[in-house]
Amino acid sequence: MRSHPSENPSVGILLGLAALVCLAATSARAGERPRVLVLAMDSIPLYIVERYIEEAGPDSVIARLGTPAGLVSSFPAVSYSAWTGILEPFGVDRPLGYYGKYYDRNTSQVTGFTSDWLTSDRPIAQSPWHYFFHWRLSSVMDKARAYMWPEDAGFREARDALDVFERSDREIFFAYVVSTDAIAHTAGPDALLLFLQRLDGLLSRRADANGRLPFTLVMLSDHGVAGGEVVENVWPAVEATLSDAGFTFGDSIQEDDDVAIIRVGMVTAYEVYTADSRRHEVAQRLAGVEGTRFCVSREDETVHVYGRQGEGTIRRKARGGEEARFAYTWTGIDPLDLEPVLDELQSAAPDADPDFFSDSAWFDATWKTDTPDALYRLYRSFDAVENPASLLCSLESGYAFGATGLAWVSWLAHGDFRWTHGALTRTGSVGFISSNAPEWRPGPAVRFNEALRFLTGSDRARDAGRNPSAGTGEGAGHSDPPT
Ligand SMILES: [Zn+2]
Repeated sequence: MRSHPSENPSVGILLGLAALVCLAATSARAGERPRVLVLAMDSIPLYIVERYIEEAGPDSVIARLGTPAGLVSSFPAVSYSAWTGILEPFGVDRPLGYYGKYYDRNTSQVTGFTSDWLTSDRPIAQSPWHYFFHWRLSSVMDKARAYMWPEDAGFREARDALDVFERSDREIFFAYVVSTDAIAHTAGPDALLLFLQRLDGLLSRRADANGRLPFTLVMLSDHGVAGGEVVENVWPAVEATLSDAGFTFGDSIQEDDDVAIIRVGMVTAYEVYTADSRRHEVAQRLAGVEGTRFCVSREDETVHVYGRQGEGTIRRKARGGEEARFAYTWTGIDPLDLEPVLDELQSAAPDADPDFFSDSAWFDATWKTDTPDALYRLYRSFDAVENPASLLCSLESGYAFGATGLAWVSWLAHGDFRWTHGALTRTGSVGFISSNAPEWRPGPAVRFNEALRFLTGSDRARDAGRNPSAGTGEGAGHSDPPT
């Protein structure tokens, strides 16, 4: 919509003043730092942004931000743990579980998604990361629409987020777009190219003749998306395997043989809660279920990796203020495929301790492999939420784990279920980050909870608000965050 000069001079002056106020709010005045928009978009893989830039050419606003860096997600590569880690430098609290439905260790009960969920402050406690964003979808209806017609909803979300940012006077503004997750799951990653093209159009209308934006933009996503073939739900096989072994499924763990498994959405990882005394046995049985690549559990600084034909051990050492070091050993067939990486690390530093290598050395050596940043991510997955699982399992490609109802709804709406994320593997784990911020010094890849740390070097972090409820201003409301 174009505005036009009014016949009435006083209205014209008012319009002119209003335009000036708008300009002042979005652009940097002489000597002032530009404001920052952190545009967080769910489920956009690095490989799609790279392809978009190649196709759109160097003049597009997104291309002008420079080469995007890979953002290596959390494990599981799902929104709750990934966005919580991404926002960690700003002091966001941990969520209660890996999803809105979770196992509460205090009450020994599966909970969440309950009737008080829409009206009380429980949603904030369940997903503080979601309420941290200054702009996000503001109602359950909007969210439902986003998943039914994600392409249009994605464009509207990006447009509205930019509008609200421009009207805001926050020095740093966090906006969260969820429809991209719906696009990725239902239409596949290629459909995100059109979203990026429309986003580029929105941005170019705000750019000057040289394609430069009047504000600092940080664009990022929390994980990738993988698939292509129709996925098989492993839940029936998991249920049969543990039932045959005498375990009982339920919402509470009272007896040794009780097991609770959270089923939400369709993702390529799942969380299991067991009695401590049976954890090892459950892990070994689940590692044998078709479609499961491995399961992990953690005791103090040691992570056990249970594969079908071998087991691994991750050990972590951290002394004083020194960088943490990790060692990885295995018996049988290595469930994490890290043998070539370990050979490389050992031959690069022949005099070093042959077992332990620094956290950053492991990151650099693994981020391009099919199990990126495996040791840190598996270790950290048990610190990611208030109620950590007893076991976390990662699936092979071609499989997913979830609520059978959701698979059915998705099939009705969009055909077979083909695209998802969650596993440790690369395609679903690597999102992206790019920015025109002068202080942004990207390497080829960054760990999720390091990605936004460059913004905290200044006093901007204080403006972001450390209290998650500080984010309930502009786009407030209760909506269901994605997986
Ligand atoms: Zn996500």
